[in-house]
Amino acid sequence: MPTPLCDYTETMPSIAKSSRLNRLPGKPAPRLSPRAKIAAPWSLRTVQGMQILEVAPFKKLPWLVHGFSTRTGGTSTVDSGERILNLGFTEWDRRENVHRNRQAFQSAVGAGDSTLVLLKQFHSPITLFFAAPPEEPRKGDASVTNSRGILLGVQTADCVPILLVDVKKRAIAAVHAGWRGTLARIAEKTVGEMHMHFDANPADIFAALGPAIGGCCYEVGTELVAEFTSQFADAEEYFDEPRTGEEPNPLQWLNMMPPGHQPPPKNVRLDLRKANRSQLLRAGLNKANIFVSDLCTACHTDLFFSYRKEEANSGRLLSLIGLQSGHGMGSKSTCTRT
Ligand SMILES: [Zn+2]
Repeated sequence: MPTPLCDYTETMPSIAKSSRLNRLPGKPAPRLSPRAKIAAPWSLRTVQGMQILEVAPFKKLPWLVHGFSTRTGGTSTVDSGERILNLGFTEWDRRENVHRNRQAFQSAVGAGDSTLVLLKQFHSPITLFFAAPPEEPRKGDASVTNSRGILLGVQTADCVPILLVDVKKRAIAAVHAGWRGTLARIAEKTVGEMHMHFDANPADIFAALGPAIGGCCYEVGTELVAEFTSQFADAEEYFDEPRTGEEPNPLQWLNMMPPGHQPPPKNVRLDLRKANRSQLLRAGLNKANIFVSDLCTACHTDLFFSYRKEEANSGRLLSLIGLQSGHGMGSKSTCTRT
């Protein structure tokens, strides 16, 4: 059986199964929120109806292109008539829409001449180095390059997209960090990969952690507290409550339910961006060079896609980073199957 591209539901299998049964293709996304507030150094730039989230220290580098997509614009449609920028293949959207959206977004970030390299993401710690675009899509969850004309991308709909740039060596990376990748230290490994291939000094690396499900909304089973605590000294700080599930459930003594009818144990909430920021600091990055968006995809489905919130109706966001090709190489997209 093929590995799923990105199973956002893996931590809550019971919910995942019921969501699939309730799938309603084309159902409009719930419109929630107070409108998202964009705080410096982050900003939204509107290009041909699309809104691209950017971070100022990356924008200042004239040889770099980057951008985090939002749901705004694009050619995909939902029943409400809203046009959305879905950038990943889903059951409810047509593949040609996704291709058109990707080309439009790629041009909007200023990389229309670059070759988009997307990975078949599967929550692994695998980081791949590219000196040239691959012939076939590769499996992995982080990519690094210092080749001009290669545009690295990471697809998400709640997981953390991390873009890295070594400002001196002019090397870049794109990382997909869900809880499994975070636990397997994919961000830290990618910094190591940049050091190995480009002699990158972590002190010269800037990191941007884009929109992802926040500690406000990301419920996970208590078993993850033990998993993270076994790996990271500061793991307790990633959770709203450091419960491991071993504690007696006080509700059993406070309610009148008969044995066997107790409410299920409460989940804990995990702040994946905090975990990844901490990991990047341990890898040697300077605090001042790590830029973390505080936007939660699940709180702001008016601006982003969230698998947890929208379930199977969710689209996919794309975060891109590339070195300016500087000359026309012909626009092409090699990874048509991811
Ligand atoms: Zn939230």
